[in-house]
Amino acid sequence: MKAALLEDIEKLRIAEIDTPKPQMGEVLIKVKACAVCGTDIKIFHHGHRLITFPRVTGHEVTGEIMDVAQDVSKYKSGDRVAVAPAVPCGDCYYCHLERQAMCENLQAIGYFWNGGFAEYMIVPKIAVDNGCVNILPDNVSFEEGALAEPLACVINGQELSNVGMCDTVVIIGTGPMGCLHAELARARGATKTVMIEVSEERLDAAKKAVNADLFINSREQDSIKLVKELTQGRGADKVIVACGVGKAQQDAIEMVANLGNVNFFGGLPKDKPFIQLDSNIIHYKECSITGTHGSSPCHNQTAIDLIASGKIKIKKYITKEFKLDDLAEAIARAETGKEMKIIVKP
Ligand SMILES: [Zn+2]
Ligand SMILES: [Zn+2]
Repeated sequence: MKAALLEDIEKLRIAEIDTPKPQMGEVLIKVKACAVCGTDIKIFHHGHRLITFPRVTGHEVTGEIMDVAQDVSKYKSGDRVAVAPAVPCGDCYYCHLERQAMCENLQAIGYFWNGGFAEYMIVPKIAVDNGCVNILPDNVSFEEGALAEPLACVINGQELSNVGMCDTVVIIGTGPMGCLHAELARARGATKTVMIEVSEERLDAAKKAVNADLFINSREQDSIKLVKELTQGRGADKVIVACGVGKAQQDAIEMVANLGNVNFFGGLPKDKPFIQLDSNIIHYKECSITGTHGSSPCHNQTAIDLIASGKIKIKKYITKEFKLDDLAEAIARAETGKEMKIIVKP
């Protein structure tokens, strides 16, 4: 089969390798779509602590089941599926709490195991056993299904921040994740959504995709003041920082309301992880700060349900498609930040 082998940092080669055969408990998938994620770009340039080379990356994967091991009865050839790439162990403290995103032994497809930038992909037994393979309803295309993974992370974030009825939700960062946050906040009952961004181009793209109440270019406008004005001086009930910028995290704490919540959804660069925090703001506002960095298999199921029901219209976030042969080009294009989501197909 054809596969994009990352042989070392920034060394990507399209190669012919043996098509894997499913062993005990495993499922073989014919990949139909694999979306490019920010993490794929990071891995391409810097590697990852869970990755040994050569590795097939790509973790936002959908496909058709081609073959299952003899002992697998839950799935059959021909099933259309989406794969939740973060694989919990099912047996640690957090897994028993049903908080699998925090699994102490978390492994991931596209990191520890070969991923979806190939013609075929094995889903390992531990992933099959822990609910990582979700059936796609007929009205969800493979391309849409591939975006269930990023949406799952957004769902986890908003569950942790308890986004809900009548909230004013501010989202800083209007990339695809920020836009999905705005869509989901509305679906969960938020009455007002505000999107803040420094890049005019990204802000324009978000305006086309999302029906938010206010779009702010924080390079040109005072975002804290505008959010306060929109909320009669109270500030936002929930602020989600969907970018990796320390200043945005600081602003978020300034613009959140009393008793509100700030979610650090985007991680900061490893070499710049510190921010300046006036801790008295938290003391007097009695607000909280939450982080989010992944999702559980059940969040992927919820994501698929939301897409299938039409509550989250995800198709418009796919702005480009590439062939597997052109993966390097797809990664370079993703890096420009000019696309929302890019799909790669074998
Ligand atoms: Zn991803
Ligand atoms: Zn676990």
